[in-house]
Amino acid sequence: MPLEEILKTNARFLAENRPEPQPHEPRKHWAVVSCMDFRLSDFLERAIGVRRGDAIMIRNAGNTRTPTDSSVIRSLLAGVLLFDIREVLVIGHTRCGMRMDVANALDRMKTLGIPREALGVHDVREWLGIIPDESENVRQVVQAIAASPFIPKTIAIYGFVIDVETGGLAYIAGRLAPGELPPTQKNSGIAGANKAPFVPAPGLPSR
Ligand SMILES: [Zn+2]
Repeated sequence: MPLEEILKTNARFLAENRPEPQPHEPRKHWAVVSCMDFRLSDFLERAIGVRRGDAIMIRNAGNTRTPTDSSVIRSLLAGVLLFDIREVLVIGHTRCGMRMDVANALDRMKTLGIPREALGVHDVREWLGIIPDESENVRQVVQAIAASPFIPKTIAIYGFVIDVETGGLAYIAGRLAPGELPPTQKNSGIAGANKAPFVPAPGLPSR
């Protein structure tokens, strides 16, 4: 039974772990925007060197934003106001389920009794946030964050795709810190990773 298992696990955790003092702000001052995918849990953090207390983690289906859901921007603004976030890492991943087939999504919704009218004026692609491809989605989300009036222009943004098997990162696009240059990288094997990155000239103002 899940409930019993959850409570038992928690009791064991309490017996084995002592509370540790935590910083008031994340040590790295990072916000990481990534996908909800279960394969990234306890993997993405290790792959980028994030431990408890280091960064805020914002995860949703496809690490994206949609016309009906701007919660990424909302959470980033909250992170800036509450935790002095200075860098945003947008990290998509290979084999993302949110590249799903539109017809299949609609069929599945129908089978589950979800009325099409619930989508309102939006098509299922918009409402659900079905992404075109992982790299292109990261590029678009980086640009949307960079263009948002809620996100200070002093915040650097880095967009990557992580290989869900190996944990390898490919840099896609970003708004870099002053003096930073996009990395030169070998072909990562991740589609779209080698296009020209988005770096608005002349870069960020110094802070
Ligand atoms: Zn995903």
